[in-house]
Amino acid sequence: MLERMRPSDALAAVGRLAGQHGLLWGTSGNLSARVGAGRFVITARGTMLDTLSQDNLVLCGTGDSPEETPPEASSEIQVHRRIYQLRPDIQSVIHLSPPYATLAACTGLDLPTDLIPEPVLYLGRITRVPYIQPGSDELGRAVAQGLGQESVVLMENHGAVTVGGSVAEAFRRMEVLEFLARLVVTARSADLTPRGIGPDAAAALYRSVYATGRSSSSG
Ligand SMILES: [Zn+2]
Repeated sequence: MLERMRPSDALAAVGRLAGQHGLLWGTSGNLSARVGAGRFVITARGTMLDTLSQDNLVLCGTGDSPEETPPEASSEIQVHRRIYQLRPDIQSVIHLSPPYATLAACTGLDLPTDLIPEPVLYLGRITRVPYIQPGSDELGRAVAQGLGQESVVLMENHGAVTVGGSVAEAFRRMEVLEFLARLVVTARSADLTPRGIGPDAAAALYRSVYATGRSSSSG
């Protein structure tokens, strides 16, 4: 469904889904998507993502001149812009602070991606950046650099950023990240020790999906 929507409609749908799936609180989080060469839309400051509409999306430029940032744009715009500048392949950036992933970001809790198939297939390596003042360009640069060619960043004492070649892909990564973090935190609470499938089985699984040209939506 999301795949067939234009990017700004997909963002609005993702905002509602994020609320329904327990990924939001208050006015936390901001979403963006490219809408053409050198341009992207981002949620406005103070937007409640679960009631997001087109009126809450602000058109911005990927360049550095001041007029490319309207004053109503999310205060975290530099996280989005620096990623778009460094990664031409990225069409959407999602920044949320869902409870379990944020707890992992606040504790240094390791999130092994080989527990179940989806993180192997969708998350890649989870990178981390230290706590840096939210809303700063310093944070934006650190997240973009930390992301590199990966898809998921945990910002310590802050939250998570996922990216994708579409809004749907970026959101799927956020959902998988939060589910993985929930499994790991819940296991800790119950004094359970989950066992992963190991790097060889993970690599074989990855190859079985991506090396044969099958859709990444399988699994
Ligand atoms: Zn933030």
